[in-house]
Amino acid sequence: MLDEADVKAPDPTDFRHARTLMEVHRPDVPFAGRTAVLATKHRKLRLIAPPMRPLGMDVTAVAVDTDELGTFTGEVPRPGPPLETAIAKARLGMAATGSALGLASEGSVGPHPTIPLVTADIELVVLVDAERDLVVSASATSLDIRAVTRSIEPGGDPTDSLDHFGLPGHAVIVRPNQGPPTPLFKGLRVPADIATAVVDCAAASPDGRARVETDLRAHMCPSRRPTIRLAAERLAARLATGCPACTSPGWGCVDVITGIPCRWCGTPTDELRAEVDGCPACGHREERATIATNTTGDPARCQRCNP
Ligand SMILES: [Zn+2]
Ligand SMILES: [Zn+2]
Repeated sequence: MLDEADVKAPDPTDFRHARTLMEVHRPDVPFAGRTAVLATKHRKLRLIAPPMRPLGMDVTAVAVDTDELGTFTGEVPRPGPPLETAIAKARLGMAATGSALGLASEGSVGPHPTIPLVTADIELVVLVDAERDLVVSASATSLDIRAVTRSIEPGGDPTDSLDHFGLPGHAVIVRPNQGPPTPLFKGLRVPADIATAVVDCAAASPDGRARVETDLRAHMCPSRRPTIRLAAERLAARLATGCPACTSPGWGCVDVITGIPCRWCGTPTDELRAEVDGCPACGHREERATIATNTTGDPARCQRCNP
């Protein structure tokens, strides 16, 4: 369902809505006069539209059913990597509206890719421009994500068990602890409602317990929102940057290079040495050092000195 706050009329005092021919040709306003459709069910417009405004881009939400591309609550498994899912979502929105410009976001909450035992929220925002034949994405990672799972027995006061869920700002999902995921209750914030759902789900579970977990859908999970916003800001920064070779918008970091030489033995360590900027249109790449040339690496991160 589309949130009403997501579809409010454009602000007439915002000069971006009064476009001139001059503005259309300003290279620093690469999307002037164009409207992107954001495929979302979960009120992400207010997070993603504002960063796009300086590009001259209007963003409207389209309520397409992105659940067929997998759900956060796990009823439908995700078919592929987050970037592919985000691009597919954007194309769904474009197909539904006939727009040549689509935006979508995709989040994944799970084990941090490099830090053991830490849960990370990785948010991705992607722009698909059919006119320019361009796909540009940006991401942001946060460790400040609330993702809690508890198995709870029915009866008694669930308040103690619910301490870490961040209610009522966050919401929870309740399902049977074992067996098929029905019944399934989403978006619960009130302890009494959760207690009732726990009774129903525990009765359906072979072990007589209910599983209560953080509802990670963006409109139920405030701890995801700043990360989605940051990813959108990074995408906007990329879209505002032209490729030095072909001037296409979308120039930005696409890869990193590790290998600062170890202070003790000179072997390349796994520390970041440079970032690689790339163009989504022509494939041009440039390496950009992130350290001074004579920097030496930490022996603790050297395979030879500290295996
Ligand atoms: Zn070494
Ligand atoms: Zn280029």
